[in-house]
Amino acid sequence: MVKHSSRIELKQSALEANVNFIKNIIGKDVIFSSVVKANAYGHGIKEFVQIAEKSGVRHFSVASSFEAEEVLEATDGKSTIMLMGIIYTDDIPWAIEHDIEFFVYNFERLPEAVEASKKVGKKAKVHIEVETGSNRTGMHKKEFPKALSFLKDNQEHLIFQGLCTHLGGAESPSNQFKIDDQKKRYKAFLEICQENGIEPNIRHIACSAAAIAMPDTFYDLVRVGVAQYGFWPSPEIHYQYLSEHGKQEEDPLKRIFSWKTDIMDIREVPEGDYIGYGTVFQASHAMKIAVMPLGYSNGYPRALSNRGYVLIGGKKAPIVGLINMNLFMVDITQIPDAKVGDEVVLIGKQENEVINVSSFTDSTQLLNNEMMSRLPAAIPRTIVR
Ligand SMILES: *Cc1c(COP(=O)(O)O)cnc(C)c1O
Repeated sequence: MVKHSSRIELKQSALEANVNFIKNIIGKDVIFSSVVKANAYGHGIKEFVQIAEKSGVRHFSVASSFEAEEVLEATDGKSTIMLMGIIYTDDIPWAIEHDIEFFVYNFERLPEAVEASKKVGKKAKVHIEVETGSNRTGMHKKEFPKALSFLKDNQEHLIFQGLCTHLGGAESPSNQFKIDDQKKRYKAFLEICQENGIEPNIRHIACSAAAIAMPDTFYDLVRVGVAQYGFWPSPEIHYQYLSEHGKQEEDPLKRIFSWKTDIMDIREVPEGDYIGYGTVFQASHAMKIAVMPLGYSNGYPRALSNRGYVLIGGKKAPIVGLINMNLFMVDITQIPDAKVGDEVVLIGKQENEVINVSSFTDSTQLLNNEMMSRLPAAIPRTIVR
């Protein structure tokens, strides 16, 4: 098989540590749902689901039917799949057929789910998503009682599997007033359920930040995305954790992901010559340059042109010139032993040096999540211990 121009490695032991860390916080009675939307935040959904199951994860959340299908293909068949986002009406029978639970975010969805359930001859497991203050998706309070009576009347077709909402912005303390409001409104929905004598099997509202820092949001399940990949949801959540638990020798959240390539070519550049497109970089002295076989079309941010660096031989090699579509150059004048074919670390560790996604994104103004989730699915992912 021919090779791709770069490769991604996933460290299974790091995921195990992250899952255990979060499970310890939430306790054993709360379900850990691993959020694997956006190609598992760029990690690679198929490989990620495999190592997550080996780490004891039994519940996955996705944002589309397409992603649900990817999990379905990767799982050993014993995990629950929950679809939080878009599901086209035509795909509802498919979801029911495969035991995929799904969010119902408006009333119109309910009769559609009943129709689909009749067609398949199987009950649909629905999670009613309610509007608590982010004005994204979710049922409003005024249509909620109607939805509850509909659920009651159609119990042979619908299982009221969950009642949920999303705490938008829980990672930032400046949003605390809004999050508090959302929690209150969610409780009011739970009370309406009680009053109507119909209650969900599980209740869930927490994302990573809430699962780490807000015990009153755990309920029966937490939906953990960013933290399971080894990233603190925000510096504030990290700081809060440290102030409550003291500083540990090692960060309890560990990066799973590294991204590597190899030196494609090496060349000498005389003083005064330009490197790459245009006149963006001029050699101020005789330089030795290594050519990298990837560029912005492979997910490497173009904003790192003339800034940022890669690791070669355990040393930092600064980027010189523009990031091209499928090539860029780095300065290896200070790394004279480097040879064509040597390993290059784009993100991750090499000997005593590390390049974090955050050091990447700090200078490019990209969110970690944004940069990671844009990494092409075509880059091969391999699992390491
Ligand atoms: C993405 C998402 C999450 C996970 O959020 P993180 O902050 O990455 O943990 C949880 N719930 C919903 C509905 C989401 O869309």
